[in-house]
Amino acid sequence: MPLLVMKFGGTSVADLERIRNAATKVRAEVARGYDVIVIVSAMSGKTNELVGWVNETSPLYDAREYDAVVSSGEHVTAGLMALTLQEMDVPARSWQGWQVPIQTTSQHGAARFVDIPRANLDAKFSEGFRVAVIAGFQGVSPEGRITTLGRGGSDTTAVAFAAAFDAERCDIYTDVDGIYTTDPRITSKARKLDKISFEEMLELASLGAKVLQTRSVELAMRYKVRLRVLSSFDETDETSGTLVCDEDEIMESKVVSGVAYSREEAKLTLVTVEDRPGIAAAIFGPLAESGVNVDMIVQNISEKDYQGSDKPVTDMTFSCPVDQVGRARKALEAARDAGSIRYEKLEIDTDAAKVSVVGIGMRSHAGVAARMFSALAQEGVNIKVIATSEIKISVLIDRKYMELAVQALHDTFELDKAG
Ligand code: ASP
Ligand code: MG
Repeated sequence: MPLLVMKFGGTSVADLERIRNAATKVRAEVARGYDVIVIVSAMSGKTNELVGWVNETSPLYDAREYDAVVSSGEHVTAGLMALTLQEMDVPARSWQGWQVPIQTTSQHGAARFVDIPRANLDAKFSEGFRVAVIAGFQGVSPEGRITTLGRGGSDTTAVAFAAAFDAERCDIYTDVDGIYTTDPRITSKARKLDKISFEEMLELASLGAKVLQTRSVELAMRYKVRLRVLSSFDETDETSGTLVCDEDEIMESKVVSGVAYSREEAKLTLVTVEDRPGIAAAIFGPLAESGVNVDMIVQNISEKDYQGSDKPVTDMTFSCPVDQVGRARKALEAARDAGSIRYEKLEIDTDAAKVSVVGIGMRSHAGVAARMFSALAQEGVNIKVIATSEIKISVLIDRKYMELAVQALHDTFELDKAG
């Protein structure tokens, strides 16, 4: 029989009535002839509560026990979902991660998949069970301990099962009805996309369209798992939501598919650093070691004759999330005190935001950057830093212009119009 993976996020299983609503969607797919693997999250808010309990009990907790506690939210919803399906006369049973077994590495709190052997589930399907309900977000380590995958990890569980069981599709039910051209709270012209490529979704996911865990999209791209994002609160059919798929499946290709943003960015500039081989490594090595996620980097043109010396000097600018500025400053000052770098001063601007346009069409169309910059110029928005990749152009601007910039770019690239 053809097989579907259906994943229900926390808001979709937030109470018993919502679990019944989700189960109705599962029953409909079973009636259409599918075997179904259901992946559930914990009820919304539950994982936060469990994490809070762990921290309160033991601030420097044993990560193995953290996983034992925080994985339990999914155990509850998996059992309740199986019971609800049984009440609807759908043959179903629940599986905790270790029962499958979902084999992972031993990095507690951030484990990665090693293997998902099919034998146990396949045996149940051949006995006539039509639905396997799996507790998301977890697995078992080689040492036999429960592991978790990191927050938002049940999306990744869903994709891993879809790959392991050759599912026709992996449907991610959530509280939004798809992926939009930009955040609808910023412009009412934002339009739901029918399809988007894995690569574009990755750029949008990591830029703050927080619908899918980034790792799940990476995994889907690697195994070519067709992912569909849709709302569990709407009536849905085969055409609902947004399909995240291989770019070969996308006929209509606009140059730009979406405008993403990240509101809380900071810009740091090291003024007058030596311009010599190894200077970038000496700056960005300590930042990486301190866990600072450096994003954009610009090295200015070189000058000479700083303070009478004829050694060349330059300015180095980079961006990182605002809440990492303290850590960045500490790392740079420590490197200066240790003598591995020298700089005249460190300028910090914590009022920045990043706006990006994303689209696979950029590979074959020139002039996207120019259109983007002139749209921003027309609105009087000054650009502080620019960074580009094959399918993305990002600019750092003053935070107070972020909404304006997103709206202007959405208009310029006519994202409100289909095709
Ligand atoms: N319940 C976990 C979390 O809140 C995993 C998930 O829902 O994806 O992070
Ligand atoms: Mg989620």
